[in-house]
Formats: sequence, C-alpha cells, structure tokens
Amino acid sequence: MGCNNKKRVTLLDKTFEVMIPADQIDRAVEQVAAQINADYADRETPLFLGVLNGSFMFMSDLMKKVDFNCELSFVKLASYAGTSTTGKVQELIGLKNNIEGRHVIVVEDIVDTGESIEHLMRSLSGHNPASVEVATLFFKPNSYSKQIPIKYKALEIGNEFIVGYGLDYDQLGRNLKDVFVVVNE
Ligand code: 5GP
Ligand code: MG
Repeated sequence: MGCNNKKRVTLLDKTFEVMIPADQIDRAVEQVAAQINADYADRETPLFLGVLNGSFMFMSDLMKKVDFNCELSFVKLASYAGTSTTGKVQELIGLKNNIEGRHVIVVEDIVDTGESIEHLMRSLSGHNPASVEVATLFFKPNSYSKQIPIKYKALEIGNEFIVGYGLDYDQLGRNLKDVFVVVNE
C-alpha cells in the first residue's frame, strides 16, 4: 500500500501502523466495565484472574473502572511463538488462589483460536468455582473454534496480527498505548 498519515512503529523485522487508537480502546474498556459492574454488583467479592503477560494493561485499566470490592490475581500461559499459535498451551505460573465457591472473571488480552482459554477454563472448573466468565479485550470471531461462551468482549477484529496495549511481537510492543497492525508492503 502507499503512504498514509498513520503513526508507524518498527519492531524487529516488521513495520506496524495504528489500527485502534488509545481513546477508542478506552471507550471499549469502559463499556465492558459497565456490563461487569451491572452483572456483579450483588456477588460476594469476585476474583479477576488475568492471563499474563498480554492482559496486564487491560487488567489495569479495567480495574480502575470496576466499582465493587474485588480481588485480583494472575496466571501465566504461553501458546504463541512469533506471529502464529503453536497450538500447545504451557502453564508457566499456575493458579495460586483457592477459587472454590468464588466468582471468577478471567481477563484475557485476546481470544484467537480459543485454545488457551479452553485449556484454562478446563483447569479452573476442576477447582469448583461458583462461576467463571471470560472478559477479553480482543476477540477474533473468524478464528474462534471452541464452544466456551466469551461473555465480555471489548473489541472484535479479523484475523490480523496486532501488537500494543499489552500485546507483543516476540516480546516487543507491549508498552505501546495504541494497537498496531502489520503493514503489508
Ligand atoms: P488462542 O489460544 O486463543 O489461539 O490464542 C490466545 C493467545 O495468543 C492470546 O492470549 C495472545 O497471547 C496470543 N495472540 C493471539 N492473537 C494475537 C495477536 O493478534 N497478536 C498478539 N500479539 N498475540 C496474539
Ligand atoms: Mg494471552
């Protein structure tokens, strides 16, 4: 494609341009927070369980907009190498909380094929939580192939590879406040 005015960044061997600016992400996070605030207002101390590393920025912004008493924790999974999923999910940091009888909201950066979230949901349900729902910043409906309902989706995108706002390309780009997509030269 030719030249345009979109902000660009280079990470390793790839060039990316802005796809979703920070203010649009903020509005989407606001909407998800409003839904969660309405749904969990009467529940006993819900636990937000973030999936590291990608969810850290979404988790931070979401928590500032949640208006009920809650707890927060993280697990760490890995399934991606470079720009494609390996199909295998590794648990790098497991669950450290007792979630029996608890209302758990899993916080993800992006649900793509659904492999990671299916793995995590299966492992969480073995601990007898009162309920488990998923809140994801990004959802790729054309790639998703699982049955687990994803209740809270801030933004839906196509199958493009994105970086920024917590999401990485080989560990780079997580610090960007906008979301960027690869430029196809
Ligand atoms: P899934 O298991 O659903 O296929 O993939 C989920 C994980 O893969 C996400 O939590 C995220 O870490 C990574 N992932 C999926 N799509 C993208 C993408 O477009 N960009 C980046 N940076 N990571 C992605
Ligand atoms: Mg992830």
